[in-house]
Amino acid sequence: MKIFCKKIRALVLLGVIALFDGCADDDSQEVVLYPDSSLIQGLYPNDYAQNDSAAANLAHGITLSVHPKATYQLSFDVDPSFEPPKLQLFRIVFNKDSTDVWAHMVRSLEPVVANGRYIYSFVCEENANAIWATSLLQDDTYYQGRVSNIRFTGDGAYSENFSINLILVGNIEEELDSFTVSELSTSLLQEFRKHYSSVTIDTLYINRAEEHPTLGSKYPANKPWLAGYSSEDTFLSELGGWPGIENALDIVLVHRINNENILGYSKLFSGNLGKGYGSTVVLGTHLKTIIGEEPISMKDIVETGLHETGHFFGLRHTTATLADIETVYKGYDFGDYSNLEDGLDDTPNCNKTSISSLKTIQSTDIFKPRTMQRIRIADNSSFKADNCPDASNYMFPVTVQNQTLSFSPQQLEIIRKNLTIFPH
Ligand SMILES: [Zn+2]
Repeated sequence: MKIFCKKIRALVLLGVIALFDGCADDDSQEVVLYPDSSLIQGLYPNDYAQNDSAAANLAHGITLSVHPKATYQLSFDVDPSFEPPKLQLFRIVFNKDSTDVWAHMVRSLEPVVANGRYIYSFVCEENANAIWATSLLQDDTYYQGRVSNIRFTGDGAYSENFSINLILVGNIEEELDSFTVSELSTSLLQEFRKHYSSVTIDTLYINRAEEHPTLGSKYPANKPWLAGYSSEDTFLSELGGWPGIENALDIVLVHRINNENILGYSKLFSGNLGKGYGSTVVLGTHLKTIIGEEPISMKDIVETGLHETGHFFGLRHTTATLADIETVYKGYDFGDYSNLEDGLDDTPNCNKTSISSLKTIQSTDIFKPRTMQRIRIADNSSFKADNCPDASNYMFPVTVQNQTLSFSPQQLEIIRKNLTIFPH
């Protein structure tokens, strides 16, 4: 019996240098080909953007976001100059402070060929949300064929229902401008039920952070909460997974987000309806401006809630801004500039008319890749939203006046599919 050993040095997402150490018995006569890329590129399910950078790195390693009991298909075009490669999948595990990462092989898959595409199917049998990584194996080494038109789709095992938990932080109620919490929550539930029409919203709960059974004392009710200033975690992730309603979507309402012109924050494909990292969407009742702050109307808060929740369930902006794409690390931009729009057939985009202007829109602080925000741009900006055919879509990146917003059928189908993937 021969033993194959690999030791691979890799730069991972969090920017640390790590070693993958691994050995495999040769009973199966198959080399275990560990990822040797930076693992900066990744895919989450049911994202239809172009993702050319992920395609280019698939053979040497990209990450895949996977969830318990979900079934997945990874596919790409056949390159007739090469034999079909095997797809090897690895569970990626970080140590406690994310300074090291280990890869453990969980699958080695042969493709099915259909309509000129390689299709690899698998079920995720993890107990919790996980990150897997890839390699493509051919003749005991990395596949050298062209990988194009990559697609990662998934179907989940969970219900098409969810509840919303609106968490009020700080002195929200005394600072609201011309509406009450009751009116806001009624409108929020009504609009969610109207526009998230591919899924069912069971209940909207209202909770106050100061009444949290274990964390309440950290969230005083007598002063405004500024997300990104009042505590280190802009997302207030520890409030997600509220006791008793652990699997509701947690929408955290604070006085304001402490970045100029940002109405709301969420993580693209958060993947987490439970607790901890990625479990919250953040909204403000006020907007930080260059000269101070201003109140946000109830309509804008509700629309921002629906927009941010769209990101939470994996929807991209219909037209990308520079801030969406740019992923700078140590002076290098690893962003995938093929993703100028969401890739959906039924959402128009604004690239032809205004991309040069949209590309100039940058948030003041993008502190994590795939963090998405809804922004308001100044009246005197050269960018005119009204010129964009997607200005009436909920996932247009900036607020617009006098538009009735909606989701497209394809967007609603992504929301439904990804809801069933997120454990709840
Ligand atoms: Zn957004």
